[in-house]
Amino acid sequence: MAAYDYETHEYDVVVVGAGGAGLRATLGMAEQGLRTACVTKVFPTRSHTVAAQGGIAASLSNMGPDHWQWHMYDTVKGSDWLGDTDAMEYLAREAPKAVYELEHYGVPFSRTEEGTIYQRPFGGHTTEFGEGPPVQRTCAAADRTGHAILHTLYGQSLKNNAEFYIEYFAIDLIMSEDGQCQGVLAWKLDDGTLHLFAAKMVVLATGGYGRAYFSATSAHTCTGDGGGMVARAGLPLQDMEFVQFHPTGIYGAGCLITEGARGEGGYLTNSEGERFMERYAPTYKDLASRDVVSRCMTMEIREGRGVGADGDHIHLHLNHLPPETLALRLPGISESARIFAGVDVTKEPIPVLPTVHYNMGGIPTNYWGEVLAPTKKDPDNVAPGLMAVGEAGCASVHGANRLGSNSLIDLVVFGRAAAIRAGQVVDPSTAVPTPNKRSIEAALSRFDGLRYAAGQVTTAELRLEMQKTMQADAAVFRTDKTLAEGVKKMEGVAGKMDDLAVTDRSLIWNSDLMETLELANLMPNAVATIVAAEARKESRGAHAHEDYPDRDDENWRKHSLIWFKGNEASLGFRGVHLNPLTSHNDGGIDPKKIAPKARVY
Ligand SMILES: Cc1cc2nc3c(=O)[nH]c(=O)nc-3n(C[C@H](O)[C@H](O)[C@H](O)COP(=O)(O)OP(=O)(O)OC[C@H]3O[C@@H](n4cnc5c(N)ncnc54)[C@H](O)[C@@H]3O)c2cc1C
Repeated sequence: MAAYDYETHEYDVVVVGAGGAGLRATLGMAEQGLRTACVTKVFPTRSHTVAAQGGIAASLSNMGPDHWQWHMYDTVKGSDWLGDTDAMEYLAREAPKAVYELEHYGVPFSRTEEGTIYQRPFGGHTTEFGEGPPVQRTCAAADRTGHAILHTLYGQSLKNNAEFYIEYFAIDLIMSEDGQCQGVLAWKLDDGTLHLFAAKMVVLATGGYGRAYFSATSAHTCTGDGGGMVARAGLPLQDMEFVQFHPTGIYGAGCLITEGARGEGGYLTNSEGERFMERYAPTYKDLASRDVVSRCMTMEIREGRGVGADGDHIHLHLNHLPPETLALRLPGISESARIFAGVDVTKEPIPVLPTVHYNMGGIPTNYWGEVLAPTKKDPDNVAPGLMAVGEAGCASVHGANRLGSNSLIDLVVFGRAAAIRAGQVVDPSTAVPTPNKRSIEAALSRFDGLRYAAGQVTTAELRLEMQKTMQADAAVFRTDKTLAEGVKKMEGVAGKMDDLAVTDRSLIWNSDLMETLELANLMPNAVATIVAAEARKESRGAHAHEDYPDRDDENWRKHSLIWFKGNEASLGFRGVHLNPLTSHNDGGIDPKKIAPKARVY
């Protein structure tokens, strides 16, 4: 192994990630006077959170009656009864506080006539425990809500003296022999130096792993680095089989084409020019629910009726609509189609594909953001010194399916909760523990191994093989047969990590090496997803299994856990938390209201 020097930095808290979750945690830590570093591989305001348009859910009642218990009910139902009840109560109860804090920090929310925060309706958000009309609960800053939140939180964090390490790539967690997290090793991308961040608390806020699939709406940087680090530290990933798909991402680029395109009269066709949705959903056709349309598109492709040279996507037609309608109602979509698919929507169809949009699974935590290291005796055992928040974590509030606008609120509620908890458990007056030398050596040696990898397969080739396998076998259409085949194929794909070829050996702006590190993180996320999907013999939320079309609460109302030893995945389970935080007598929700029932909208 080459010799590596590293610079050591000591902090009370190190946050990895500067998206909405990482910045809210960083700000909360710094406000309490904890010495806080935020390490991020991209500039904070370029994190994927910047792309969130729709908004952030909280029961403010600005547009009509609302209640935190209605928000909680909708979240429980949305999760298809797989979310942890205590965490879902915490989310719904704390949401208004977290949004008002954002307002006071300076987020430029859109306003009502009265000057209060404007709220819009979103799918699955209702009144009266699902019995009443839809509610306007989603707070918005025009169609730039994520953008507004990121800029505000970054400015506030700087004001509170949080220190930023920008374009530093976190490689691995540094763990003591007895399982305490003691820091993180990072690589400074622009000058090639290595940095050890020793800390009393490490917070992973690294976002989702959409890029394990061929087609994803998320940024290229969403590579599940936190999940990869946790898996290598011997800790499990939870509920990874639950991946949310949007029917119409642009083929190849993955950018979202809003449901509004079909709302305005757009329709889908296969290679025979057939409007196939009429066959599957005679009433709602192209406007059936997201998961249904995604499933039908996938069936058409699997049965050989996909379009394009590889027969692997579907056409979305808007070209029959009057050009004035397109210009007026869908200007953004017309522009996206032109830039990302080279298509003039007034003349040609847009190539589209069901596209990964969100990862419900991730690093298991309690509702304080503390990472769980479940044991036989204690499924809720906490891994000391380690937290996870945002899309990287799994608290679990989204269970088997996330509601729109419930992710942004998850980022700020649990980023804030992690800071509150760190205020209780991190003592700023004590010395920072000396990190375990063996763990540092192991991290350096893995880094060196990838830097000098001299096998046969390039990172780009192997990544594409992984993405195509996941898209074919772990996407929307799932049967015993496809999943079993997929697990076998992914074992083969993961095995090729030992045969990687990295051509650039330098340490300065080496994108080949960085993408290799990212691939090494994507791989356990991908394998965990398909192994957990193969194991779950029921349909629940985003996991629709053709051979087991019904939800099975008796046997499967439990969280899946996947541990890794090298490339080997092993499966376990954790019970769902069924009890709310607050009893009904003390003003909590009536447990009868959230008892499992069929999920119909
Ligand atoms: C197109 C799109 C639209 C969406 N719209 C909405 C919406 O309207 N409402 C809603 O509620 N949700 C929406 N979502 C979902 C929501 O935006 C995301 O779930 C959320 O933004 C994730 O935030 P995060 O803070 O967890 O991670 P991210 O914002 O993805 O940030 C991850 C951070 O981790 C850092 N990082 C990662 N790996 C490393 C590493 N190895 N070393 C150092 N740093 C690292 C990155 O630099 C980055 O700063 C949308 C998602 C997409 C993709």
